Amino acid sequence: MTRRNALAVLVAIVATVVSGFSRTNVVSGFSRTNVASGFSRTNVVSGFSRTNVVSGFSQTQGAQTIKLYVFDGGTLESDPARYRLTREDVGTTQLSVAAYLIVHPKGVLLWDTGAVPDENWSPTGTPMEQRLVLPDGQERRVTIRTPLNAQLKASGYTPAQVTHLALSHYHWDHTANANAFARATWLVRQNERDAMFADKPLGTATPMTYAALKASKTVIVSVDEHDVFGDGTVILKSAAGHTPGHQVIYVKLARTGGVVLSGDLYHYPQERTMNRLPTFEFNEEQTRAARKAVEDFLARTKSRLWIQHDFNAHAKLKKAPEFYD
Ligand SMILES: [Zn+2]
Repeated sequence: MTRRNALAVLVAIVATVVSGFSRTNVVSGFSRTNVASGFSRTNVVSGFSRTNVVSGFSQTQGAQTIKLYVFDGGTLESDPARYRLTREDVGTTQLSVAAYLIVHPKGVLLWDTGAVPDENWSPTGTPMEQRLVLPDGQERRVTIRTPLNAQLKASGYTPAQVTHLALSHYHWDHTANANAFARATWLVRQNERDAMFADKPLGTATPMTYAALKASKTVIVSVDEHDVFGDGTVILKSAAGHTPGHQVIYVKLARTGGVVLSGDLYHYPQERTMNRLPTFEFNEEQTRAARKAVEDFLARTKSRLWIQHDFNAHAKLKKAPEFYD
């Protein structure tokens, strides 16, 4: 989405079920007037209060291994021209939507929260295409299969057991279920938080989907590389430019090795190989610098980059409840 859409908020959604059932929903993340599925945010939030985060966490921890679960947030239809690429350049025009759960002996961190709020749809067993309509008429289509919460549950966790939340950035396709994790400690950079709660947020945001974070216990990350658990295994790294406080996260896994989750530092892998920038960066110079810094980091830590929106790469990853360790 372009910066011209800075004021754009997703206001309506048409959910079409592949089985032939169709209906019109208003996404509750963007409007208080209608919750489509009956799974209301109030119920989600009240569920937190009944569960002790610390005791729930300790019950699930065993060996001192770090696990990385990959969640499927659906398939986003996309136009490569928005990334200064052609259809021929990219081959596959679709983008994946991903979220990840990092299970560390000292905490459970969720990285990004998907593109469609769980409470706004009901799984049917078949993929569902959600058509998100922007106020200026632009559309985004996402095909979703499994709610984020169901994937979390399949991995053995409830939202209350997630102790830390970090978003790569505030765009709508990363924040959809953020409110469900408002009881976690939120790790965010000051300029990103400021943008998220500004009267007129920069870029394409859906503030209703993360409004509850405003009251979360918050750690303002002020250093380039923030060691989340103090042992060097999970590091938030600044990668500003896509948004003011965009970041990536490094996870050091015993068997898999080092992995950096890209956020939106890249979308199509050809942005990396062909040195192309999206057309809608907050600051292109910063993005160029961030890309170089992350490439240096990858070399220094001998890590691989997992591009979250890379459809083909994401398709090959093991999905929860399987995990990487
Ligand atoms: Zn994105």
